[in-house]
Amino acid sequence: MASKILVIDDSPEIHKLVQIRLGKEAVVIHSAFDGVTGLAAARQLRPDLILLDVEMPDRDGFAVCVDLKSDPATMDTPIIFLTGSASTEDKIRGLELGASDYVTKPFDPGELRARVRASLRSRYLVELLSKKAMIDGLTGLWNRTYLDLHLHMELSAARRSGHPLSCVMADVDHFKSINDTCGHGFGDDVLREVASAFTQCCRAEDIACRYGGEEFTVLLPNTPVEGAADLAERMREAVAKRTFICREKLISVTCSFGVASLRGPLPPSLLELADEALYRAKHGGRNRVEVCQELSSVTAP
Ligand code: GH3
Ligand code: MG
Ligand code: MG
Ligand code: MG
Repeated sequence: MASKILVIDDSPEIHKLVQIRLGKEAVVIHSAFDGVTGLAAARQLRPDLILLDVEMPDRDGFAVCVDLKSDPATMDTPIIFLTGSASTEDKIRGLELGASDYVTKPFDPGELRARVRASLRSRYLVELLSKKAMIDGLTGLWNRTYLDLHLHMELSAARRSGHPLSCVMADVDHFKSINDTCGHGFGDDVLREVASAFTQCCRAEDIACRYGGEEFTVLLPNTPVEGAADLAERMREAVAKRTFICREKLISVTCSFGVASLRGPLPPSLLELADEALYRAKHGGRNRVEVCQELSSVTAP
């Protein structure tokens, strides 16, 4: 996919020159001609790289860089300064403010391209690493770190929009005895299969995570409690229907589910509500779905 580059420079000639120099790269170039417009564009576009002029009327590049680096929406975007002067002081100042690199104008034909490529490559690797840090190694689902981060974001989004946010918690029944009888390696296979069964039931926008051990959580943005309960039932059936062979014997695996849903300005206790419902599913005999009914439509804390 083409990378997005935002060029912030008051000189139209520089925009043209960047277009020419990067014409053959797999990039889409967006233009802003002053600092304020550039900041707004950076927040909205979320570019992969910003080329930022140092000398601009009103807000200069250094001031724009400080703003970009202090806003969570743009702080991780690499910045290459476009500097007119060859002054070492300016270059050092830019790098100390958090820029990744600088290029002196007018650009050498190959230099801008090489520096842009290097910055985009670093950005890609950093993103890959941070993504890997949020994936559960055994099942390939999102991990607890990702869930915590997104729960926070989804709760804020649900509060703002008034749309419901639901959660399904699942726990494999009698998993300890599966491990004890069939071995830990077999237990790991079961966890992978359960994760795959769950994923097949979910939509792309659902956030399926391994909560820890043999427990899973699916966050469901824009989903009312009835939809979440339906999904949990499908997940329950999908697991129950899979067959496993342990020591030449066919065994089945079941899961219990707790479902909860929030809407409006609510306390951030969605996981606790789902967990309480899951607890009831376990005590009600396992291999079942329990829904947190009484709190599912609460509209104020
Ligand atoms: P319940 O039906 O009440 O949920 O009982 P349970 O046996 O499933 O629950 P318990 O909490 O007693 O046991 C969970 C087991 O999950 C214990 C732990 O060793 C095992 N476990 C946790 N993580 C892993 C893992 O990554 N792989 C395997 N194979 N086992 C794991
Ligand atoms: Mg300028
Ligand atoms: Mg458990
Ligand atoms: Mg269990």
